[in-house]
Amino acid sequence: MAQPIRKLLVAATWMWALVALPSDAQQPAPASRTQVVLLGTGNPPADPDRSGPATAIVVNGTAYLVDFGAGVVRRAKSAVVDKGIAALDPVKLRVVFVTHLHSDHTVGYPDLILTPWVLGRRVPLEVYGPNGIKEMTNHVLEAYRADFDARTRDRALYTVGAFPEGHAVNAHELRAGVVYKDANVTVTAFPTKHAMESFGFRFDTQDRSIAISGDTNPTQAAIDACSGCDVLIHEVLTLEWLAKRPDFQAYAARHHTNTAQLTELANKAKPHLLILYHASLSLRPAVDAERSTPAALLEEMSGFNGRVVVGRDLDVY
Ligand SMILES: [Zn+2]
Ligand SMILES: [Zn+2]
Repeated sequence: MAQPIRKLLVAATWMWALVALPSDAQQPAPASRTQVVLLGTGNPPADPDRSGPATAIVVNGTAYLVDFGAGVVRRAKSAVVDKGIAALDPVKLRVVFVTHLHSDHTVGYPDLILTPWVLGRRVPLEVYGPNGIKEMTNHVLEAYRADFDARTRDRALYTVGAFPEGHAVNAHELRAGVVYKDANVTVTAFPTKHAMESFGFRFDTQDRSIAISGDTNPTQAAIDACSGCDVLIHEVLTLEWLAKRPDFQAYAARHHTNTAQLTELANKAKPHLLILYHASLSLRPAVDAERSTPAALLEEMSGFNGRVVVGRDLDVY
C-alpha cells in the first residue's frame, strides 16, 4: 500500500475511534454475555435430531437449566465439546427449573441426578418445580437406591462418584413470583395454561432478559413476562400439522399454542428475538414426514413483526 494512503487510513481510523469513544464510554460493555443454549428442542416423539425439552441459561460460568427431557446430560456434554461452553460440564449442573411434570420434560431426571454424581458432583441438585416435584424426586431416588447403596458402600473403590451428598436433591415446590436469585440471575415463575400445573420462567441477568414458555396455551402472563424482553423461547404447533391430526386438535386447542396464536402473542410481547421450540417439526422426512419442515413453520410465523428463528439442539443465542 502506498505510504500516503496508509497514513490517510490510519488517520481516518483514529478519527473514527475518537468520534466513537464517548458513546462507547457511556455504555460500558457488560462483564459477561448471557448465553441461551438449546439442549433439547423436541417433544415426546423419539426424534434423533431433537432431544427432549431442555434449555440452559449460562451466566458467568454457571448454568441454569429449564426442564430435563431425554438426552439432557449428553446434550450438555455436547455443548462442552462442540460449542466450548465449559459451564455445561455435567458435574457442574446444579440448578434446575421445571415447567411441569409431563414425561417429555422430566424423563431425564434420573440421568441428571445420577450421571453427574457418578462423574464426581459433590453438591446436591437444587430443583424448582410445580407441586409434585418433591414426590417425583423421592420416587426417583428410591428407584435407584440399589445403585446409591452399592457405589457408596464400595467407597474405597469408587474414587470419584462415591460421595452421597452428590446424589442428594433439594426439591423446591414453587409458586408464581421470584423463585430464585443469586449474583448472576433473578428467576421469576409465571403461571401457564397446560394439562397440569405449569409455569414459564423469566431470567433477568446483568445483560439480558429471557422468557421461556414451557408447554402452554397462549396466556397474557407470557406476554407480560416478556414485554419487550431480549429473548422469548416459546412452544408452537403448526396449523399444517394440526390439520393432519384431528385426534389432537381438541387437546391442542386447550393446552398448546398454534402458529396463528403465537404470531398474535409475540406481536404483543415484542421480544427482540423469538425462538421456536417444542414444535411439531421434523428436520428429516425419514424421521417423520407428517410433521412440518422448519421452512413451513417459519412461513406460518411470517406475520410476526420481529426476528424469529427455529431453535435446533445445541444452538447458542
Ligand atoms: Zn411437552
Ligand atoms: Zn406438556
